[in-house]
Amino acid sequence: MKLADRLETISFSKTLSMGQRAAALRAAGRDIISLGLGEPDTEIPEIVRRATAAAAMEGNGRSAPVEGLPGLREAIAQKLGTAIGLPFLPEQILVSSGTKQVIFNAMMATLDPGDEVIIPAPYWVSYPDIVRIAEGVPVAVVCPAEAEHKIQPAQLESAITSRTRWLILNSPNNPTGCVYTVDELHALAAVLRAHPQVFVLSDDIYEYLDFNGTFVNMAMVAPDLSERILTVNGLSKTYAMIGWRIGYGAGPLFLIKAMAKIQSQVTSGTATIVQKGAIAALTEVPVAGLGELGRLFKRRTEIAIRHLRAIDGITFCEPRGAFYIYAECGAFLNKKTASGSLIETDDDLAEYLLDTAGIVTVSGGSFGLSPALRLSLTCPEERLAEAFERMSIALGSLQ
Ligand code: PLP
Repeated sequence: MKLADRLETISFSKTLSMGQRAAALRAAGRDIISLGLGEPDTEIPEIVRRATAAAAMEGNGRSAPVEGLPGLREAIAQKLGTAIGLPFLPEQILVSSGTKQVIFNAMMATLDPGDEVIIPAPYWVSYPDIVRIAEGVPVAVVCPAEAEHKIQPAQLESAITSRTRWLILNSPNNPTGCVYTVDELHALAAVLRAHPQVFVLSDDIYEYLDFNGTFVNMAMVAPDLSERILTVNGLSKTYAMIGWRIGYGAGPLFLIKAMAKIQSQVTSGTATIVQKGAIAALTEVPVAGLGELGRLFKRRTEIAIRHLRAIDGITFCEPRGAFYIYAECGAFLNKKTASGSLIETDDDLAEYLLDTAGIVTVSGGSFGLSPALRLSLTCPEERLAEAFERMSIALGSLQ
């Protein structure tokens, strides 16, 4: 069997492959600290586990509607209304098996071959590959640390062509932790108003991890553009439900219907028992507890910043949300390890840190801006401190 040409254009998710690598080394007895996967080390709230278990004990084995259980679509519409003031009808909501699938559905439903999608870089690893699978063209716009890794209105204006179909925004951001302000979103909206062919995909998955607690997205700032904004979110981070695979999209009805059509031929409705758990998450977990999550990751970020500042050669833009630091590491390239190997790329540096210090990081190439290492702060504070101590020694011994 010859494999499809499209496989040549995409890669296995680098963050997932580093996660698998870490698991294999741990199984072989190495003491590995993972700053690799973007998977919170928090627990699924008990209310959610109980609701899911009860749903399993009741059976719930029949297929769910493709678009999601009516009760869940209702709960999501309510949540969007009360939490961030966005007025969606339940019919404008699609429930999918993870935020990743929502984004996949959106691209498959809207892109023709050659259509362009503007993606500020560094970006979450999967955006460009999802666009490529849908035969679109990812247009990466490099956003350096000096601009806090945020796309500027003039950059957006010059990246837009007649083939542009989407701008993808993710705030708080993976991999940089940058957060767009109201004014910055207003300025981008002003550019978009002149280009009616361009839609916005707002990936809000780190909504509750805005360290100032002042989350804002494009639909909130520019309600006049609501007919061309798809707001996406999921329960993987906020409720630690990453393995249960549930996400949702909210947007104009025609788009939601088109995305449901794609999903109807791929996975159908999301697992019913997880949807019941998701209803409990959105309606029964106190929002105050979610604020605690933000404080936990803010504390870890502060610890990481303190340690990283003490390492000569590492620079980064201070995160304002999420749980990542995008550490630029060009100063270590072209140095040699104690055994004489040359560190040529950030990939080499990530390998070196794994081999010598037992620390998993993910190199910048997969995020569209090198040389850098993405550090995911998803382990307890003592382990985090140990990881940075080990990193400091390993980097300090390069010559
Ligand atoms: N969007 C962003 C920005 C992410 O960082 C991730 C996961 O790391 C996802 C989407 C995928 O989320 P899900 O597990 O809901 O598919």
